[in-house]
Amino acid sequence: MNRRKKFDAVVVGAGIAGLYMLHRLRECGLAVVVLERADGVGGTWYWNRYPGARCDVESLEYSYTFSEELQQEWSWSERYAGQPEILRYIEHVADRFDLEPHIEFNTEVESARFDEQESQWLVRTNGSVCYVSQFLIMATGCLSSANIPVIEGIESFKGNAYHTGKWPHEPVDFSGQSVGIVGTGSSAIQAIPHIADQCKSLTVFQRTPNYSIPARNGSLDLDYEARIKARYPQFRQRNRAMPAALGCFHAANNQSVLDATEPERRREFSKRWEIGGFGFLGAFNDLTLNLDANDIAAEYVRGRIRETVSDPRVAETLCPDSTIGCKRLCLDTEYFETYNLPHVDLVDLRTNPIERLTGSGIQCAKSQFEFDSIVFATGFDAMTGTLLRIDISGRQGTRLEQAWNEGPKTYLGLMTHGFPNIFFISGPGSPSVLTNMIISIEQHVEWIERCLSYMQSHSYTTVEAEEESQVAWVEHVNAIADKTLYPTCNSWYLGANIPGKPRVFMPHVGFPSYVEKCEHVVANGYEGFSFA
Ligand code: NAP
Repeated sequence: MNRRKKFDAVVVGAGIAGLYMLHRLRECGLAVVVLERADGVGGTWYWNRYPGARCDVESLEYSYTFSEELQQEWSWSERYAGQPEILRYIEHVADRFDLEPHIEFNTEVESARFDEQESQWLVRTNGSVCYVSQFLIMATGCLSSANIPVIEGIESFKGNAYHTGKWPHEPVDFSGQSVGIVGTGSSAIQAIPHIADQCKSLTVFQRTPNYSIPARNGSLDLDYEARIKARYPQFRQRNRAMPAALGCFHAANNQSVLDATEPERRREFSKRWEIGGFGFLGAFNDLTLNLDANDIAAEYVRGRIRETVSDPRVAETLCPDSTIGCKRLCLDTEYFETYNLPHVDLVDLRTNPIERLTGSGIQCAKSQFEFDSIVFATGFDAMTGTLLRIDISGRQGTRLEQAWNEGPKTYLGLMTHGFPNIFFISGPGSPSVLTNMIISIEQHVEWIERCLSYMQSHSYTTVEAEEESQVAWVEHVNAIADKTLYPTCNSWYLGANIPGKPRVFMPHVGFPSYVEKCEHVVANGYEGFSFA
């Protein structure tokens, strides 16, 4: 019989979301425990330690906003922070707010069952304790289940195999090695220049070429930092009002590219290419909405790739032909330049697909490769992967996996019908991955905290999303995605990267109007939720 520990709330995950949730609920005087499978805090930034791992949101924006003292005392060294610095920051936050005593590390949640009689969750882990609590809050992250590709013989490779999202904690030294890397998404695009720097030879296996914009990273300008810090709350407020909560869209140009002349287009794109970052997509107002407009931006980027990569055949293979911005735009430092190095090769899997892994390397249809190490930069079972790996059951024993077998169904991305008192921070159906994640996380955490206080003050025991409001919300999430170009490619937003995963557009395209909707729901007595 498992020992029982009772709490008001169990939070799963000690990343950016779980730590802030813990902080807020403790401030409300609730008994809270955080269960974390790793042996340290950090979530995404604990696991993704691959060479070159770096945030694609500027460091003065990618940080908590809830404490003015915290944002004044912390100094970032670069425009875009690297993984080690972000992890140090998260550790600092855990320390500063004395959070660690409430976290149980090396504790992986395996199942959670809602006990209808007692209105409480029973949470079981790899340990011997059963955690009993009124509320269960999933702060499990959107990109936290590594996608290990289904390739014949993958277990037979005798060299070193790595996944970017589960990188070892000891330094990996590729010196003198032949290395293969599978994938050309954001992780690979960051890792490739760094691995190429170290190894004897690098072969990149590309299935779909990707658009990437220069990050233009560098040391953080101290005057700029001082100016932002002098009015940090206003800076935050301004960014929260931007699409995706990203400050770069403050300078978005409200003109159609179709109405611009060729010199105007070049000037606007080039200006943003030199500045670097996601602001490129704000060059004109229709780039993510209209295919003809989008293709003009895409052709500009293809032109840049052709200018950068000296071998025209390699350049053509690297040129994407899909919609730009449909998959998450990548930001890079010298990614395309890396293909000019004599020891770096590109294999086009569209004409030479991988057949299997062998003991010594990769066998493609037309050629065979031998490696000391293979890096899988093959992404994640995004947004639902980690939630569905936990055996979660709600009312009448219904399993979450059953309830979501046609794709995730939530109301506001916060709760799902049939599963009372379980909240998802940045769940499917909320803007999450389409925003500066920390801003979305804070908004969810604060909403959940308010909801719990509301329940306390009204002596409610349970809260649950109503089925009707959930159906309407799922339709709304799909309808607004369909007004954009997002559904036009095989992205992980749609679950298209995982064989057999239902194809449903998972995030909500609509920050900041989403926040207004959440506020409206609260103002109308938590419209769409039922309490008992
Ligand atoms: P990803 O964008 O899903 O890219 C995975 C890559 O692996 C794709 O090129 C994919 O090809 C390829 N791939 C997957 N399975 C394969 C197979 N069986 N055979 C051959 N190729 C295969 O994953 P990611 O690069 O880890 O990035 C995921 C997300 O994490 C990003 O979109 C971003 O949101 C976040 N991220 C952010 C940063 C940052 O802040 N700078 C850095 C890294 C990641 P296909 O395209 O053909 O499927």
